Amino acid sequence: MRVRFAPSPTGALHIGGARTALYNWLLARGAGGTLVLRIEDTDRERSTPENVEQILEALEWLQIDYDEGPISQVARSERHGEVLQRLLDDGRAYRSTATGDDVKAYKAEHGAERGFRGSDEGEGAVRLRVPDEGSTIVHDVIRGDTAFAHVHLDDPVIARADGSVLYNFAVAVDDLDAHITHIVRGEDHLSNTPKQILLVLEAVAASGIAAETASSDGEAAGAPVYAHLPLLHGPDGKKLSKRHGAASVQDLRDAGYLPEAVRNYLALLGWGDADDETILSTPQLVERFSLQRVSKNPAQFDERKLRWLNGRYLRALSVDDLTARLEAFTGRSGLRDAVEISREKMQTLADFWPLAGFIFDGPADDEKAHAKWLDDDGRAALADARAAIAQLDPFTLENTQAALEGVVAARNSKPKQVFQPIRVALAGSAVSPGIFETLSVLGRDEALARIDAALERDNK
Ligand code: GLU
Repeated sequence: MRVRFAPSPTGALHIGGARTALYNWLLARGAGGTLVLRIEDTDRERSTPENVEQILEALEWLQIDYDEGPISQVARSERHGEVLQRLLDDGRAYRSTATGDDVKAYKAEHGAERGFRGSDEGEGAVRLRVPDEGSTIVHDVIRGDTAFAHVHLDDPVIARADGSVLYNFAVAVDDLDAHITHIVRGEDHLSNTPKQILLVLEAVAASGIAAETASSDGEAAGAPVYAHLPLLHGPDGKKLSKRHGAASVQDLRDAGYLPEAVRNYLALLGWGDADDETILSTPQLVERFSLQRVSKNPAQFDERKLRWLNGRYLRALSVDDLTARLEAFTGRSGLRDAVEISREKMQTLADFWPLAGFIFDGPADDEKAHAKWLDDDGRAALADARAAIAQLDPFTLENTQAALEGVVAARNSKPKQVFQPIRVALAGSAVSPGIFETLSVLGRDEALARIDAALERDNK
């Protein structure tokens, strides 16, 4: 099996593209096959080196590796030119100056259903001759067979007057030369497929043009198998876009998702039991993935489900592993103790700093939390708590817990009437990891200093 991922570097790698890459990767890894990375950089204005770099980085972050490439499509233009010339020489393609208006006029005369046929004028853009008889059948593993009657297909333009080839031509020749056996891509390319089949099978093969080099792994070149992946929608049933939250792989990384959770979630977008809450490790995905079980219905990307799934992955990491990832994510070090007491309350890496950053950077300044929890009653409870903490010997988590529960009992109050004022004093807000754990990570001196500052401040 030889598959390919062929992104156009006209922007960041989007979630749909990442899913296409992942499905190809899962197929290749599951079959012991080869994944070819081809950069379709023929749009010279939008294909920048920065965009290529971003795509490579996104694949690296997702841990989707490839076996051949990256191959630049533009770097192959000489080969494209040669194949084009052969087709022209053999009369399977011709040059025509026909414009869009000429095509319209042709249809007005012959009927809208009639595919446009031009005449060879020896100049202008290059069109492929489509035979009137017969049809091209696209065998799609996901969608079944679709027949395209030739008589309805326009002779497609395959190169501009200056000889630069168009997308469908470049793709077909590149797939032939790379000995691609399975073409797995988004549904938006379905209408290109008959043109590409006509190009590769009918014309190129009829002209006796073989793949540029013999296949390195002995795969026989034949008609590739096609699979067009279902569209991605947001939870509102509309085509997935930035409005639905994260749109690119970079967005997902910045939002604090783990690559293994993203792989799991993307794999389920259109494949599996339609249960997008299934936890499947990457080796399990490699083992189980099959094109036969990809749905043709649009799949729904729901960031809340990804968050949930990510939380499950995050809590399954060892504290050391999670700490290393958080240190890389935040650019800070020495986080281990804080990570250990925060992991139960996090779903993404980005949740860590808002939850536990106060441990390192000092209390936040949430006015509402102060007003709510450090009124006269709250300050009295805090003063009692301070006295209890100050006396502890040794200052252990168990002792702290017992002492503070003692304060709750002595004041005959609810636990939160004592714990929330402490929390606000330590964190400056009403959110933090567990209060006993937080006290023990801060240490007694720091905790007492923060409590004193809070008592002082709210006294004014
Ligand atoms: N370059 C195309 C894209 O990024 C994909 C072409 C293909 O997979 O055949 O949408």
